[in-house]
Amino acid sequence: MPPPLLIRDVRLVHPGRAIVVGDLLARDGAIAAVGRVSAADTARATVIEGRGRLLTPGLIDVHTHGVMHSLYEHGARGLAAAARELGRFGVTTVLPTIIPRPTEEMFTCLAEISAALPATRGVNTPGLHLEGPFMAIGGAACPTLPGDLALLERLLDTCGGRVAAMSVSPDAPNILPVIRRLRARGIVVFLTHTRASTDQTEAALDAGATHATHFYDVFPVPAETEPGARPVGAVESILADPRASVDFICDGVHVHPTAIRAALAAKGWQGVILITDSNIGAGLPAGVYDTPWGFPIRVSPETAARHATKGTLAGSALTMDRGIANLHRWLRLPPEQIWAMGTLNPARLLGLGRKGRLEPGADADLVLWDDGFVPAATWVNGQLSYEKEASPVL
Ligand SMILES: [Zn+2]
Repeated sequence: MPPPLLIRDVRLVHPGRAIVVGDLLARDGAIAAVGRVSAADTARATVIEGRGRLLTPGLIDVHTHGVMHSLYEHGARGLAAAARELGRFGVTTVLPTIIPRPTEEMFTCLAEISAALPATRGVNTPGLHLEGPFMAIGGAACPTLPGDLALLERLLDTCGGRVAAMSVSPDAPNILPVIRRLRARGIVVFLTHTRASTDQTEAALDAGATHATHFYDVFPVPAETEPGARPVGAVESILADPRASVDFICDGVHVHPTAIRAALAAKGWQGVILITDSNIGAGLPAGVYDTPWGFPIRVSPETAARHATKGTLAGSALTMDRGIANLHRWLRLPPEQIWAMGTLNPARLLGLGRKGRLEPGADADLVLWDDGFVPAATWVNGQLSYEKEASPVL
């Protein structure tokens, strides 16, 4: 048994509620005590001096395709490489996100990465996020297939029950049976890639969809039908429906901060989530990088990832730590509510009751932050997964 972990003199972030000064004790992978921890409880503990820094639950990214040089669509190899790096961005849980093109090669990849999930070290992987294939609008190589229960069952079987979320379009033909089947299997249904009408969107929510992912992106504005009448569609239906939460790529490129503020005004802090939708290049220094897509990309934090010669948007280069920093800059909300958007809210969306909170009994997924939202150290289930070289905590 590893010794207990005592992190002393930190500002403990209770997402959505408060930030309070205190200590945290973790034992056997779980949080054992928070607040003032008595000396009797801390015998033999490894002691970390927090020196007044922030301690938060680990960040949870429900939509990410890869990071740095790795992609989850490369199977177990991509997963292992990403898992080694995610701690440096304060991430302790991810849904590796894959666009499932229905090819034999893809089925092999899905089987391989699913089998590798339970043994992943360095980050929690409660399941995959399949972004498609039942979509109405393509983009980013996303297939646009009508709802097909036989294909759905083959995908889920291939993944061996390890799908946590699937993204679908409310306007894909025959999508409602797919949504109902996913809910029956306990899989969270996200809506995206859509120009659905209000009726189609409400039908998808009635069938059991609960969330919209990379909200606003690939949700085209409906065309005006007559001058003087402003049409509404999926965006307005989702904003208006208290059953649906939303997430945003918070890089300042894919969506304007005003859209995030509008969603917060409609839903409150509990209904808005930070994602990265990150891809190859995320977390790397600005520069030009090779991809498996037949063209290199130019990456910079200010402009996302772009086709190196054409300049067109080629994906997100955001990391969760930068997303949290951006939200603090853009939003006039109590910081504990902003932290909830990367911790408690995604945990609730996925039904992960032991994550996203600093409370006795919760998993010891923790991040100690230096100023400027820079992770100093990250722990996954009480195990150190990252430690900043310039200021080692141990
Ligand atoms: Zn995506």
